[in-house]
Parts: sequence; structure tokens; C-alpha cells
Amino acid sequence: MSPLEIKSLIVDVPDFPKAGIVFKDITPVLANPVAFNAVTEHLAEHASRMTCDAVLAIESRGFIIGAPLAQRLKLPLHLVRKRGKLPRAAITVRYELEYGFDHLEMHSDAIRRGGRYLIVDDVIATGGTAAAVASVVAQQGASVAACLFLIELKFLAGREKLGNVPIFSLITY
Ligand code: AMP
Repeated sequence: MSPLEIKSLIVDVPDFPKAGIVFKDITPVLANPVAFNAVTEHLAEHASRMTCDAVLAIESRGFIIGAPLAQRLKLPLHLVRKRGKLPRAAITVRYELEYGFDHLEMHSDAIRRGGRYLIVDDVIATGGTAAAVASVVAQQGASVAACLFLIELKFLAGREKLGNVPIFSLITY
């Protein structure tokens, strides 16, 4: 299935979760096994051209995209979670939201110095979330091989926050 066909399944939900936001609902893609498999295949095809040590998947819809991708690429999967969810010692990063701040965490042993990581999420909007994860990777002496997204909201210019990290998004708006 082509990216354009996958795009036709994504539903725009105006004013969710709050007024002014057009939420990209990917659940019809997940409910279509051919489409969901094609998402994994397209992203894996792109990532297979790079040298990577592991996938970092961002809570929560990034888990859904990142888990089958890590399996397809035969790479370790690490979870980037909301604060307080991980059971062992974790690294915390604070990042800016539209209004206020939030925190993400990774297990301290998830990132190896000198390693190359794929950051995966469903959507890049302002880029703040992915940039926060990229900053932790850099702080640990590792590098980001690429950031992979199912959807990029280009009009929000999120990729500018990621500097010269390679970014691949399957579907753009
Ligand atoms: P940002 O940090 O602004 O790039 O936001 C990215 C995160 O917010 C991702 O984890 C997305 O799941 C979620 N997100 C932001 N905007 C949307 C949107 N319009 N539709 C669906 N998810 C979104």
C-alpha cells in the first residue's frame, strides 16, 4: 500500500483534544492490517539504509509504530515514557509544551555511549518532543541515526528544532 493510500485512511478530528488543534487519528490505519504492515515496511525500508543500534519509541502512539519497526529491523526496542512510569533508574528530560512543561524518561542503561539510535513517534508537530529525546541521546554521548515519523505537520516546522538530525516522515500535511 502506498503512502498516499495510507494517508487516505487518516481522519482529521477538529478541535481535539482542545480548540484549534486538528488531531490526526491514525486508528483506522491500525485497524487495517495491510495499511499497518505497509507503515512498518516503508519505515523499515528507509531505516535499513542506516547503521543503528536500537529504536527509541516515544509514549504512547510511538510505541505502536516503533515496536513492529524494531522487530522488522531486528533491533532492540527502548521505551521513552512519561515521568514515573519506568521501574528502574531513569534519565529525565524536561521539555516545553505549547503551555508549560512536561517530562520524558528513559532507563539509564538504554543509551550506550557511541551508539546510534532511531527515534520513532507517530506525529512530529512542533518537534519539541523528538528534540527532547534527541538531546538526551546527545547528553549520553550517543547520536541519532534518524528520527522516523508516520506523519509530519510541515506547517509547524518541527524539523527545525532537530537541527541536522536526518528526519523521515511517511506522510506530510
Ligand atoms: P510535538 O512535540 O509538538 O512535535 O508533538 C508531538 C507529539 O504530540 C506526538 O507524540 C504526537 O502523538 C502528538 N501530536 C501533536 N500534534 C498532534 C496532532 N495534530 N494529531 C495527533 N497527534 C499529535
